Amino acid sequence: MASPTAALTDGDLKIVSRESALSARTRAIAAFGAASLLVLTGSAHAADTPAKPPETSVLSLDTGGPMPAAQAALAFDHADLAFKIIPDRKAIEGTATLTFTAKAPLDKLVLDFDRIYAIRALTIDGKVLPSKAWSNPEGRLSITLPRRLAKGRSVAVAISYDGVPHEAKKAPWDGGFMWSKTETGEPWIATAVQGEGCDLFWPCIDYPTGEPKLVDLHITVPAPLVAPANGVFLGMTEKDGWRTYNWRAKTPNTYAIALDVGPYEEMTATYESRYGDSFPMSFWHLKSRTEPAKTLFAEFTPMLDFYEQMIGPYPFRDEKMGVVETPHLGMEHQTINAYGNEYKKDVYGFDWLLQHEFAHEWFGNQLTDTDNDDMWLHEGFGSYMQPLYSQWLHGDMEYMARLNTMRGDIKNKSPIVSGKQLKEDDVYNADRGPGNDIYYKAANVLHTLRTLIGDEAFFKATRLIVYGRDDPKPGNFTPRYAGTKDFIKIVNEVTGKDYRWFFDVYLYEPAPPELIETQEGGDLLLRWKTSKDKPFPMPIEVKVGAKLVILPMADGAGRVAVGDAIPVIVDPASKVLRRQPYVEQWQAWKKAKDDAAKAEAEAKKKAEEAAKAAKP
Ligand SMILES: [Zn+2]
Repeated sequence: MASPTAALTDGDLKIVSRESALSARTRAIAAFGAASLLVLTGSAHAADTPAKPPETSVLSLDTGGPMPAAQAALAFDHADLAFKIIPDRKAIEGTATLTFTAKAPLDKLVLDFDRIYAIRALTIDGKVLPSKAWSNPEGRLSITLPRRLAKGRSVAVAISYDGVPHEAKKAPWDGGFMWSKTETGEPWIATAVQGEGCDLFWPCIDYPTGEPKLVDLHITVPAPLVAPANGVFLGMTEKDGWRTYNWRAKTPNTYAIALDVGPYEEMTATYESRYGDSFPMSFWHLKSRTEPAKTLFAEFTPMLDFYEQMIGPYPFRDEKMGVVETPHLGMEHQTINAYGNEYKKDVYGFDWLLQHEFAHEWFGNQLTDTDNDDMWLHEGFGSYMQPLYSQWLHGDMEYMARLNTMRGDIKNKSPIVSGKQLKEDDVYNADRGPGNDIYYKAANVLHTLRTLIGDEAFFKATRLIVYGRDDPKPGNFTPRYAGTKDFIKIVNEVTGKDYRWFFDVYLYEPAPPELIETQEGGDLLLRWKTSKDKPFPMPIEVKVGAKLVILPMADGAGRVAVGDAIPVIVDPASKVLRRQPYVEQWQAWKKAKDDAAKAEAEAKKKAEEAAKAAKP
């Protein structure tokens, strides 16, 4: 998804970090309020379900962390998901038919699923299971199988349910369902659940590695609304004022499965690839926004050209490149990317939001991290693609300018990678983990890596982590999982050198390396200072008058004779990310200024409210 502070530039939307897990409880109470509506509106409740559905648990609002053994023992073969979306009641009815193969003998099936839903029926291989055979007290649905499932055997579980799904507060950063309306009053509905997970609307394995091999979607909506979705369109049927849209997608990321419903019009064209084949591009935009949509649609082809040239083949070319206009900013929903940047014009000449979310088709959907701890592989590469695209389009000034803007937002409070299995919130929430540093610091780290090992090695390593091979061509790769350690191994193999020192300092320590400069006679002495005195043999360039000197810094230190040369510039081409005290001073000044402005605005608001209350 887009970084939370990216939205800071878009008017007055102030989101500094994702809400903490504590505030998840508050969110859950809001969901409970909505859920009780279901009862008031007279939806049928079976006698064995409670009158008031329980609130969404913290477990459901989280995603990731260590996976339960019973889930690790499942291979997820197929998910057939039928949803009926009822805008009037902000409710859904669903039937999920899930097929698994056991990787170890199993007595129970354990699935993540929001407990707010009333389960109406549950079958195993077509046979109805009594309600005492399952329970879902905490958002983890535990199903006792009628008989032990042997290793290598498959099982199909079908779950019919209904309820009022958890509503998003600030999608995509605090996600769930968005029941929005267009300017003309039609329902405009979206889901965005990266932070919370698939379990907010269907029973699933809510971990990065919980991808089903194949998903069929049947999305029923009031006619004449349109429901574009992941993968390939398999047709629409209409009956009694309801339309059902059928879609099929291969290996979608678990949080990439999304519902998008609205009065959409489809804009479509064929992309002719440099690989000699072609595939469809589609943009579902609101009917009322055809003109700006045309301008954005014209950006699809050059963006595809850039990614196919610089990274490799578009991974989902046997399905489509798809984008849908959403009431939230954006999300990397596989083959149906969410776009909500309002067609803003940009000084860089392209829509950064579309370009960022589209990056995730490579970094997120083709390559999926093995754990949330490796999320910088999605967001760092995903963010580096905007400067890289600027460079590809217009040259170095815009490449550097973008990286420098990102540098101003680096926090250096938590390491980008912790080496532990993490929940999504432990990574994206800046109060608990690296937050934005997985975007902006990681993008600057990738820039530094590129200058260190050179373009040939950098892009080869990138292809290897994304595709698992150096010669990706349409048809010779499938989506894959990988983590930080895999990337380090690849960089070492590609370069034939050991670059662990680079990643040890940039990814596994919060503080960036600092270059200590001292003078000795006519010499400039440079020394790398790192956390825990970790070795850091990062070469550094120094411009001495008109001459460029490269210091190898093999033992972390170097010396260059400068005499009275003017100017003396350390790292004149801005190749190396390092601590810059003046950036920190600016950040502290800006924070104080922003805090004061916020306090002033709050005080003003309070005074106005008090004055209003005092009026007779
Ligand atoms: Zn992103």
